[in-house]
Formats: sequence, structure tokens, C-alpha cells
Amino acid sequence: MNDSGEAGSSERERFVAAMLGAGHELWVVGGAVRDRLMGGTGKDEDFATSALPDVVEETAKALGRRVTVVGKRFGTIGVLLDGHWSEVTTFRGDSYSSGTRWPDVTFGTSLREDLERRDFTVNAIAEHPLTGELRDLFEGRRDLEAKLLRAVGEPHARFVEDPLRILRGIRFVSELGFAVEEETLAAMGRSTSLLATLSQERITAELDRLLCGSFPAEGLELLRETGALAVILPELAPMVGCEQNRFHKYDVWGHTVATVGAIPNGTENLRLRRWAALVHDLGKPYVRHTKPSGEWGFYAHEKEGAERAEALLERLKLSRKDVQAVSLLVRRHMDRPNVEERRSVRRFMSRSEGHWDDLVALKRADNASHTYDDREYHDALQAMCDQVAEEDGEALRAQSPLSGDDIASIAGRPPGAWIRPLKERLSAMVLDGEIEAGDRVEGERVVRVMLSNEGKP
Ligand code: ATP
Ligand code: MG
Repeated sequence: MNDSGEAGSSERERFVAAMLGAGHELWVVGGAVRDRLMGGTGKDEDFATSALPDVVEETAKALGRRVTVVGKRFGTIGVLLDGHWSEVTTFRGDSYSSGTRWPDVTFGTSLREDLERRDFTVNAIAEHPLTGELRDLFEGRRDLEAKLLRAVGEPHARFVEDPLRILRGIRFVSELGFAVEEETLAAMGRSTSLLATLSQERITAELDRLLCGSFPAEGLELLRETGALAVILPELAPMVGCEQNRFHKYDVWGHTVATVGAIPNGTENLRLRRWAALVHDLGKPYVRHTKPSGEWGFYAHEKEGAERAEALLERLKLSRKDVQAVSLLVRRHMDRPNVEERRSVRRFMSRSEGHWDDLVALKRADNASHTYDDREYHDALQAMCDQVAEEDGEALRAQSPLSGDDIASIAGRPPGAWIRPLKERLSAMVLDGEIEAGDRVEGERVVRVMLSNEGKP
């Protein structure tokens, strides 16, 4: 149970002994119990206790432990035990209001009351911190074995009470690979409109975890199936049913789900790459047109998608840095350098603004659900990128001698999206040795030539 010391000597064990010794109930609850029963280890433990938060705080402090108030409103005390933060939360219930400094909680008196308020049966198993005895009042172990996510109590009422549980459930599907029990699933579908009442931060935190799960495709399909997609990501909804052409096995949504799933678990920058995969074809439904051949075409969807991705991820409140990186990956995901030509690969890398590994990973995943196989191309591209990065590292940092503002002032126009191709051209020329790094005079001359050629074929 705890391997950081001899029996009775670890900080955890002294805390547990102090709490139980003072006559308080104390149980390990939530994810730590669930994951341990599934054979996992190493999760920070959360505790539920009959003691009020002030008592938890005093007990931990008396043992010299660091404490922090995790949720002022909820009366959760964080206690640092053997280098891990454990959250200790007083039993929830509606038995009595405490009269302490925890304004918004009604504390309960029994473990049962507390467990009844938890979201899913597999999350509602309590384990005694000393004896390991399990309190499994809702057959959570049965559901764990069946890999089933089942709401505690009456599902619809529980989702109405707190709609975040719908997204938590979908996120657990992605993390654990469980199926959702039938009535729970139906109740999720009936309550998705309530998701509109949640704060963006809480929604985005769940989406983040969904995308980083081991079974993201299952999670994403469940978002669509329940109708949650249309409420929390309406920007993605037009992808559903957007048919493609003979190069594709799926509609744009199906292809998107497959692309997210094709970013392998455990890869570097997983989160960024999965977000990029999710939105890489966001532009397609908006630019779809019929080609002369009669097939659907998606000309310039990467540019449309990059702009829409930027707006979407800003709305979702991702960090500025993440928004920029994802939008760049979307904009560049159709780039296809000639892997035989170093110069072509160098240009590809320089345009990826340091994200070439992420870009190759995205292109590879994108290809996984095409009807043709491009694995060899991507292997060669990755190999060439590695080689160029090693041998020409310095040159890759080649920058346009002029900033966007410089270009705007030369043109006498307000800055905007029109600057990007000009700046990229300048960077490419530096990269290819056609302009000296930092040569602003030559840079300006080139910009003027490009401006005078604007609009000409
Ligand atoms: P993980 O730590 O992997 O996210 P977890 O199950 O521990 O999984 P937490 O968010 O840490 O999830 O919550 C701890 C426990 O608190 C859950 O297992 C669940 O019993 C309960 N819980 C959390 N959020 C809710 C909620 N919105 N409604 C009901 N119970 C909840
Ligand atoms: Mg937890």
C-alpha cells in the first residue's frame, strides 16, 4: 500500500494513525482505489473523512506536515505525505451545515452519504487505509471487471445535478477504455444541453484529458453520439457527415477521429499533437467544392482550417503558445517536401517554426486513414529532417531580415494576414542563401518587387 518506509514510520501511516486514533473515520476514495483495483499503482491518494476540514488541518500540522486549502468552498485540505499531495475531504452530505469557515458545503456524517454523491460506481469504492477493507456499496467492483461506467443512483438526476459528470464520463471512457452502461448512456444523451451552463475552463480541462487518454477515438465518438459535440464544440459539428473523395475511407469527422487515434499513446508532445489532429481538417466543410472530375475537392482547406482553429482554440482558452503551435501545424499539414532534395526539406522545416517533428507526426497520422499508404514517404521525411537538424541546425534558424511591422510600413498598409507569405518568402531566401541574414536593404528591395507583382500571375 505504501512503500516509502517501514511499517508505522511513513508520513502517510502516521497521519492515518493520528486520524483513526482520534476517532475519525478515514477512507481512501476515488481514482486511487479504482486504479489499484485495476492493477495500476502510483496515484496520489484522496481521502474521505468524518473529521471537519479544520480538524484535518490541525491534525496534519501537529505532525509537521505541509497543508494547503485546495478548495476553499469544498473544504478540501491538501496534505503533503511522503512527497505526494493527498486531498482530504470531509464527508459530503446534507445532514448539517458546519458553521466553520467552509461556506458552500453541507457536510455529511457517514461514508454511505458521501459515496452516494460520487459520480460513477467505479469511483465510489472506499478502501480502509490500514486494513485495506473495501466498502463497495454500489457494486463498483463488478462494473470494474465488466469495464462499465455506470452512474451512482438515478443517472438523469445525477447529470442534471452536475452536468460536468457527463464530460467526466466521456473522459473516463477515453482514459480507461470502458463502455458506458445503457441507462447511463441514455441519460447522458438527454442532458447534454446542460453542458452549456459549465465554465469554459472546466470543459476544456476535460477535453484536454479526453484527448490525452489511451482510447481517444472512443471518447470522441461518444462526444458525437451523445450530442455533447454540438454543444461544446459546435465548430466541429459540420465535419460530421461531410463526405470526401476516393482518397478517404471516412467522412471528415470519421477521418478526424482516426487521425487523433493514430497519434500513438506515449508519444512526445502528445497533447499538442492530438489537439492538432482534432482540428487539422476543420476547414474542409467550409471549402468543399466539386472538382472538374466530379469529385469533392478541398482546395486551401489548411489555410481556412488554421484560421478557424485559431479562433476555436482561443475560445476554448488554450494558452496563446498552444493556439499558435496548433494553428501552425494545421496551416502546414499539407506541405509535402521532396525528400530527395535537402533544400526542399529545409524549407519545410523552417516553415514549421521548430515544430517539424510534430508536423511529421501529424502528417503520418493524417495518412493513416487515407486509402493509400504513405508510410515510406514519412519515414524518409523524418530521417531527412533528423539529418538536416543535425547538420544545418544553425541555418534552420534563418530569419527574415524584416519583421511583419517592417513589411507593413514598407507597403503602407495595416498589418494583417497578407504579410505572412512575404515574410515566409524572405525567410526561405535567407535559408537558401539568396539573401544574407540580416540584410535589411536587400530584404526591402525584395518586398517591393513582390508587392509590385501582387495580383499578377
Ligand atoms: P483522476 O484523479 O484520474 O481524475 P478520479 O476518479 O480520482 O480520477 P477526481 O477528479 O480526482 O477523479 O475526483 C476524485 C473522486 O471524486 C472521483 O473518483 C469521484 O468519486 C468524485 N468526484 C469528482 N468529481 C465529481 C463530480 N463532479 N460528481 C460526483 N463525484 C465526483
Ligand atoms: Mg484523483
